[in-house]
Amino acid sequence: MNFKGKTAIITGSARGIGKAILLKLASKGVNVVINYLNQNKENIDDILKTCYDLEVSAIAVKCDVSDFKSSENLIEETIKEFGKIDILVNNAGITRDGLLMRMKEEDFCDVININLKGTFNCTRHAVKYMVKERYGSIINISSVVGITGNQGQANYSASKAGVIGFTKSCAKEFGSRGITVNAIAPGFIETDMTDSLKDEIKEKMLSMIPLKRIGSGDDVASLVCFLASDYARYITGQVINVDGGMVM
Ligand code: NAD
Repeated sequence: MNFKGKTAIITGSARGIGKAILLKLASKGVNVVINYLNQNKENIDDILKTCYDLEVSAIAVKCDVSDFKSSENLIEETIKEFGKIDILVNNAGITRDGLLMRMKEEDFCDVININLKGTFNCTRHAVKYMVKERYGSIINISSVVGITGNQGQANYSASKAGVIGFTKSCAKEFGSRGITVNAIAPGFIETDMTDSLKDEIKEKMLSMIPLKRIGSGDDVASLVCFLASDYARYITGQVINVDGGMVM
């Protein structure tokens, strides 16, 4: 995989899956934009230092992806620094789990605004620069529950199913401009997001995974690298699970 001279924005990349994606792309020679929201400065400085050690250029941009203007600023800062965007990974996401009968309106809206509208916001601002270059890879992080649904996650599942519909529409709209748009549906991946789950839920999930292990951020990052590479230029509009076989 030759990524020299390519630029990637990874939203929500100061921790978890986003950070794993960012560091894997950087390790392959991609110049990267770290997007963060609430992380402390030391953490961001550490990630920047790791990128410099990997001999790639990196900048960090604070942005709330649910905010249209803030997302525009993320894209404009990237263009100012690197002049183009080759890879956009819409990774930032949250959960606000709860049974529907008790779900607050705010918990529904927050999840849709960050997970789905955030994906729209960043894509909307980035795609005009990709169209200009007639080149780009957009990779949206969905979830297996966007395909299967899940009790207690009506808001989250709806947002992730929305990401899949958005992905397919964009793939059709931008295919003729040399831009591929795909979604990744991770299963159960070990991060801060899944840390708070009760042990019994973790055991139950594990029992449903044929490969008998919880996934890592790096498992997701490997697929991102493939989809962003020239090996995947004839793949668009697809949803690919990274879930150890949990959903098939
Ligand atoms: P995480 O909570 O560790 O990381 C999420 C990141 O998104 C954080 O860095 C956070 O600051 C950032 N973020 C949240 N709101 C934001 C906003 N408004 N603007 C910018 N950044 C914001 O979670 P994770 O497990 O690394 O999840 C990453 C993605 O993968 C999410 O979209 C999540 O839905 C998806 N996913 C995770 C799993 C899993 O098992 N962990 C499974 C399927 C899908």
